[in-house]
Amino acid sequence: MGALVENGLTGSAISNLAHQVDAAGLSAAERFGLLPMPNLAWTPEIERETAHLYEKVKRVMPSVEWPVHAPYIKAINDLKRVRNAVILAHNYQTPEIFHCVADYVGDSLQLARLAEKTGAQIIVQGGVHFMAETSKILSPDKHVLIPDSRAGCSLAESITGADVRALRAKYPGVPVVAYVNTSADVKAEVDICCTSSNAVKVVESLGADRVIFVPDRFLAANVARQTKVKIIAWHGACEVHERFTAQELLQYRADDPGLKIIAHPECPPEVVDVADFAGSTAAMIDYVKTRRPARVLLVTECSMSDNVAAETPDVEFIRPCNLCPHMKRITLPRILDSLLYLREEIRIAPDLAARARISVQRMIDLR
Ligand code: SF4
Repeated sequence: MGALVENGLTGSAISNLAHQVDAAGLSAAERFGLLPMPNLAWTPEIERETAHLYEKVKRVMPSVEWPVHAPYIKAINDLKRVRNAVILAHNYQTPEIFHCVADYVGDSLQLARLAEKTGAQIIVQGGVHFMAETSKILSPDKHVLIPDSRAGCSLAESITGADVRALRAKYPGVPVVAYVNTSADVKAEVDICCTSSNAVKVVESLGADRVIFVPDRFLAANVARQTKVKIIAWHGACEVHERFTAQELLQYRADDPGLKIIAHPECPPEVVDVADFAGSTAAMIDYVKTRRPARVLLVTECSMSDNVAAETPDVEFIRPCNLCPHMKRITLPRILDSLLYLREEIRIAPDLAARARISVQRMIDLR
C-alpha cells in the first residue's frame, strides 16, 4: 500500500522556542556562574593524559589531527567534573566527540531517556536542536544546553504546530503520528510520537484505518509498505538520506557482490529495496557489531561509519556516505564554550513542554 503525500499545506521554519521563557527561574549561567578559558596548548602532559583516548579513535583519525583535538578533549573532560555535567552524543557526531568526551551515546530517543535518568543537572546535547528539545521535554527540571542552536534538521524544519492543526482540520478525526525528528511545537499537537524502529507498531496501535504521519515522506512510505493502515504523509525529507539513489547502490553491489548494504528507513523506498537490511541507527550498529560482515556500506550519515569502524577493526567500511551539515555544527570548541559559559540553554514554555511530553510518553509506554 502506497503512502499519500500531503502537499496542500506549506511547512514553514521551525518555531524558535529559545525565545520562550519557562517558569524554572534561573538560567544555568545564573545558577552556576561562568568559568575562565583553560589553557589549550598541546603539551607532553596532555599527550600522556589523553593517550588512552587516542587509542579509541586511532583507526579513523590520523595522528596528525590528535594534537588539535586533545587539548579540547582534556579541558572538556575536566570541566564536566567541575560542572557535574554530562554530554550526550548522537550516533552522527564525529569520533572525537562520540568516543572521547561523550558520557552517553545513541539515537535521539535513547539519549533523551538517558538524560531523564542521569543525576547531572547540566546536560550538553551533542546533536541537533530537536534532540535537545526532546531531552528537555523529558527532563524539564534540568539545564539542557545545545552547543550551537543553529544545528537544525531538514525534517524538523519542514513542519510546524500550525501545520499539524491545519492537517487535523483537513482530516477530522484522523490520528496524527510524529516521528521524533520534530520540534516540541509539533510534538505538542500530535497524538503520539514514533522512532524509525517502532513506527509500524505505533501506527497500528491507534486502531484507525487512516493515520496522518509527519514529517518524513520516505519513512512514511517505508511504513506504508508494512501495514494495512492507510498513511497520509507530510512532504518532509532528511536532506542526508534523500540523496542516496538505488542506482549508486546497485553499482556498488555489482562491483562487490559480497558487500552488505545496510540502509536507514529515512532513505527512499527504492534505496531500502536494494539493502540487505534496513533499520534505525541503533539497529544498523547492532547489525555490524553482531554479524561482523567482511565489508559493509552504511547508507546513512558519514560519522556513524567512523564511529562503528573505530570499534570493529575486522570490518571494512565502504563509504559513499553523506554529511549532515547540522550535526557538524557541533564541535569540540563549541562544546567547551557550552560548558564554560553554559550556553545555549533550551527553554520551552512549561505548558507546551507538558503537552509535548504526552505524545513522547505514549510512545514510550507502548514499548
Ligand atoms: S541526518 Fe537528516 S534527520 Fe538527522 S539531523 Fe541531519 S537532516 Fe535531520
